[in-house]
Amino acid sequence: MATSVKENLAVIQEKIKQTCEKVGRDPQEIKIIAVTKYSTIERTKEAIEAGVIHLGENRDHEFLNKYEVLGDKPTWHFIGTLQSRKVKNIIDKVHYIHSLDRKSLAKEINKRATKPINCFVQVNVSGEESKHGIAPEETVEFVKSLQQYPNIRIIGLMTMAPHIEDETILRTCFQKLRQLQQQIQQLELEYAPCTELSMGMSNDYEIAIEEGATYIRIGTALVGE
Ligand SMILES: *Cc1c(COP(=O)(O)O)cnc(C)c1O
Repeated sequence: MATSVKENLAVIQEKIKQTCEKVGRDPQEIKIIAVTKYSTIERTKEAIEAGVIHLGENRDHEFLNKYEVLGDKPTWHFIGTLQSRKVKNIIDKVHYIHSLDRKSLAKEINKRATKPINCFVQVNVSGEESKHGIAPEETVEFVKSLQQYPNIRIIGLMTMAPHIEDETILRTCFQKLRQLQQQIQQLELEYAPCTELSMGMSNDYEIAIEEGATYIRIGTALVGE
């Protein structure tokens, strides 16, 4: 038997609290996204009943399957690679997109959306070839270039750290994302307040919180079987 989501959530909330105390942050600043990409509907419902508000999915068909059952009750985060031709299927159903990483995708979101969409720019901080996201050195210019799209709102940056144990490397990765965020904030662009940082997963969320995460994306440790 897998542990209940309720128990897992309590453990994570306690760790968030302790980490926040350590670095002088308010735990309220940190939102937990339950990544339900491998979860059944039952397990996902269990998460909602345990008090989870934010759900993250990374594939359009899986998201749509769950949306059909759960509707607008959860706040939906699309966290996976998004093909432009899939945008129209999900755009009026998701609340946040974490994977904006190219101009053509911004153009399509802008075209299909009927209201401004909260987006995170996904940055490939680690530079791993297997990872999606824009290169760090191109990120600021990319954000500047989005001014022409009234339906794109850049609320923050997102990254996936490498799948390793080395704390120093993980920390450096999160720090770089935060530095980019500060550069963007200094531009004071109305469409890009960039107040949020979507970083930290099951293995590294405590380090991410220490480095300024406001949304952590937790799959295995929260809803894993
Ligand atoms: C799967 C996934 C997660 C959650 O990963 P865990 O290690 O299971 O917590 C977070 N973010 C993205 C983009 C993912 O695809």
